[in-house]
Amino acid sequence: MNSWEEKINALVRPNIRSLKPYSSARDEAPEAGPGLSPVFLDANENSLGSPLEEDFSRYPDPQQQTLKIALASGKGMRPEQVFLGNGSDEAIDLLLRAFCEPGRDNVVLMPPTYGMYAVQANIHGAEIRKAPLLPDFSPDAAAVSAMTNRHSKLLFLCSPNNPTGQSLPETFILQMLAEFPGLVVLDEAYADFSEKPSWAARISDFPNLVVLQTLSKAWGLAGLRAGMAFASPLIINVLNKIKYPYNLSTANIRLAEKALKQVQVMRQKVQQILAERSRLESGLLHIACVQKVFSGDANFLLVRVSDADAIYQFLCNNGIVVRNRSREMHCENCLRITVGSPSENDRLLATLQQYPKQVK
Ligand code: PMP
Repeated sequence: MNSWEEKINALVRPNIRSLKPYSSARDEAPEAGPGLSPVFLDANENSLGSPLEEDFSRYPDPQQQTLKIALASGKGMRPEQVFLGNGSDEAIDLLLRAFCEPGRDNVVLMPPTYGMYAVQANIHGAEIRKAPLLPDFSPDAAAVSAMTNRHSKLLFLCSPNNPTGQSLPETFILQMLAEFPGLVVLDEAYADFSEKPSWAARISDFPNLVVLQTLSKAWGLAGLRAGMAFASPLIINVLNKIKYPYNLSTANIRLAEKALKQVQVMRQKVQQILAERSRLESGLLHIACVQKVFSGDANFLLVRVSDADAIYQFLCNNGIVVRNRSREMHCENCLRITVGSPSENDRLLATLQQYPKQVK
């Protein structure tokens, strides 16, 4: 066993390391003899089907092999390096379950950042250690190292970061990969909007790196629920061992495979969103209550306004829902605004122009 293998194995919670996972009916079935079409009487399904036209009578492939192959080939990696979840939120949940011993281990977060890292840590009884970003939203390596101890199992990095939109510098990520004693989880939910290369291609070089991606953002499939974790097969096996056996539905797998064949459509939409982002940014800068638009690499803008609570309410009253992030660290009076369709952005800009005239 090489030392990395030992190191990663040692990070896994002992009960998970020794867990005998659920073995589903299809996991156990040997191949049918040559020329025989198998009759499946092993999983208590309904062989007569359902009221729907499309056939969903059989359980899906627990390992989602065909979808993993499609995803891996697009990214120059092997299917064994891919975990598929019901959204990348599932991967965040499973990472906590697998690596953090409740009441003993901790995760290091860099607020302001995506809220689910803290929620999952709280659910699983992991201590949250905060190494806040600096006021200009750049990372603070010294703060991370001051917060880290031998019980630090996961460091969550988000790049481009939600809600700031900023990407983390390569040098910082490299430093974390070299210094952090646990796994470095790099959430790239918004990476397809950024020109910076994804770290997914580099997982073979960093056995302690887990890269999270999702079909919810650039691929426009938030309602489908499909997210990915890319990492060494050792880490992927741990996640596979503890996931629900059929965590992605057949409908989900089929539609994701169909979408992945049309990467050019996704890229076109990303380009349109980026063009809209620049238009929205210039439009916002002409509005009286807008004080600052933070430049970022994602499909949203963090915007500092004169009075976030009042403007948030004003927008809601006018049927426009944005995210009020003004209670997050360094985000005083900040709203996070998703780049919408051209007409949605026009409506947002026209409504904001009316503030504060309409409230008086
Ligand atoms: N990571 C980040 C940074 C996000 O902003 C989100 C969704 N808002 C997710 C992960 C979760 O994405 P999903 O579960 O839809 O894949």
